[in-house]
Amino acid sequence: MPRGYMGRILRVNLTTRSLKVEPTSEEVARKYLGGKGYAVYLLYKYLKEYEKAGISPKDIDALGPENVLIFATGPGTGVPGFPSSGRYHVMALKSPLTGSVGSANSGGEFGPFLKFSGFDAVVVEGASETPVYLAVVNGEAELRDASSLWGKNVFDTCRILKDKVGGKNTSVACIGPAGENLAYMACIVNDEHRAAGRTGVGAVMGSKKLKAIVVSGEESVPVAEPKKFAEVSRRCLDAMKNNAVTGVGLPTYGTAILINIINTAGGLPYKNWQTGVNPDAEKISGETLAEKYLTSRRSCWGCPIGCGRVTSVKSGPFQVLASEGPEYESVWALGSSTAVKDLDAVVKANHYCDEFGLDPISMGSTIAAAMELNEKGYIPQEDLQGLDLRFGNAAALVEAVWRTAYKAGFGKYLALGSKKLCEIYGHPELSMSVKGLEMPAYDSRAIKGIGLNYATANRGGCHVTGYTVSPEVLGIPEKIDPLKVEGKAKWVKIFQDFTCVVNSTVNCLFTTFALGTKDYAELLSAVTGWDLTEDEILKIGERIYNLERVIINKFGFDGKDDTLPRRLLEEPMPEGPAKGQITELEKMKEEYYKLRGWVNGVPTKEKLAELEIEL
Ligand code: SF4
Repeated sequence: MPRGYMGRILRVNLTTRSLKVEPTSEEVARKYLGGKGYAVYLLYKYLKEYEKAGISPKDIDALGPENVLIFATGPGTGVPGFPSSGRYHVMALKSPLTGSVGSANSGGEFGPFLKFSGFDAVVVEGASETPVYLAVVNGEAELRDASSLWGKNVFDTCRILKDKVGGKNTSVACIGPAGENLAYMACIVNDEHRAAGRTGVGAVMGSKKLKAIVVSGEESVPVAEPKKFAEVSRRCLDAMKNNAVTGVGLPTYGTAILINIINTAGGLPYKNWQTGVNPDAEKISGETLAEKYLTSRRSCWGCPIGCGRVTSVKSGPFQVLASEGPEYESVWALGSSTAVKDLDAVVKANHYCDEFGLDPISMGSTIAAAMELNEKGYIPQEDLQGLDLRFGNAAALVEAVWRTAYKAGFGKYLALGSKKLCEIYGHPELSMSVKGLEMPAYDSRAIKGIGLNYATANRGGCHVTGYTVSPEVLGIPEKIDPLKVEGKAKWVKIFQDFTCVVNSTVNCLFTTFALGTKDYAELLSAVTGWDLTEDEILKIGERIYNLERVIINKFGFDGKDDTLPRRLLEEPMPEGPAKGQITELEKMKEEYYKLRGWVNGVPTKEKLAELEIEL
């Protein structure tokens, strides 16, 4: 096995309670790296097995035992000096929220500590009848009873299991009540405040009655060429230190620094995307957060950036003694999209998302959709059971979050996510989602390329599949006009392919503000001993993206699903720098499909052969 890998994958069947250790395949690693890429490869194999057994991919129940959940690291994860490599990637064969593939990424310490425990990945099949947790300690794994933990929140679960398992380098990834109660936007939280947030992977874990995975170990990750790696690492870390975003902006203000920047560009969605200008942006900005709530900074393992915020709300109805975040997307979803300008309430709502295990983006967006449905008179008042869902109502925001986690009252509708909620009340057009996944904090009428990325992202409306906001607004690596559609397809494709490389390495996407494909090729070559070129790593990224697309095609997704909510396509932006703009998606999509070698959202046989994808 090349260096950078631990060489072992743990396969756990919860139905039969069996555990198996398999070697990490060098051949697969060379083609798909690790993390997301390796997991996509494994998920495709499961899908083929199901088809062989006569099970149609469309019939796979995301909350049934046939779903598969994978926690995966990559060759960069846990290597000291590999920039911001304290992350892991979670993939589920099917997401309960979207019916597409489940995919989420998280920082903290869990990723590196999984490797230190002796494994590259954990694959979870089947479902247990009673609550269990998985302990992976120094190369040994065991399923243990978790009955006494069922019902506990994330913070208590993390603390109890960390104490119980003890040892060096111990980390817990778990679900809270939202995952147990199968809320479709439930996430998996590790180290108390870091979350694999998107696509409802927490509900998949809950359906399997797997409360937590605890990892602990003292192994280290081997590096092929330590001297060369030290040189490349030093250069990359210097570049990050000297970069305005990774060296100053993110460490000082965290990701929430974007609130004022994106609002100034006219692309900060407000009141469920009715406009892209929030008149109260300053009140919920990163600067205000830093001035009034920040108590200290926090980093994921091995990260020199340290964008994490430790915050508190000192007094009042939304008091929080100590919390982390909220990040930019959470401030936006829970604050701007709901028009709640009370940052105390936003911090509290975000804290509840961590405590109960909910994705703040989907949660805030679903509440915002419910607020619009309610204000337009589409929700019978008896369904709301007294929950006063109006834009700007801070108390209702906080109450709606815990109600969702416990499916209490109107919470049982919110727990379905915005797409199903809006369908139930007869107005699907008010769900600001793509393929059922709520879009994040950038209005594509003001930032056009991100619209193409949302539409074509395999997991649904997602910014971190291809973050074109970087060139379109921040001017990294070069400034392009956010309101033009020409040339955007090329940017989207490159960003999507490169992001697959990052999520398969696995380290933090924020490094790409300072580092490019050349840096990644050199870092990965020095760690693994392979001689990887820039072109080669981009081809790996493209291969991963296409195989993931093959999977979602089998679930029934194609060109008709690569679209955006009607509001972004037909309702002109009412104000701000993008006034009068819509998203001209079709123009960009046509060019994008050509570049991808896809027809109607489906990769051609020739493209798959060129990428050496064996079906
Ligand atoms: S930049 Fe932030 S999210 Fe990324 S690894 Fe560092 S602390 Fe974690």
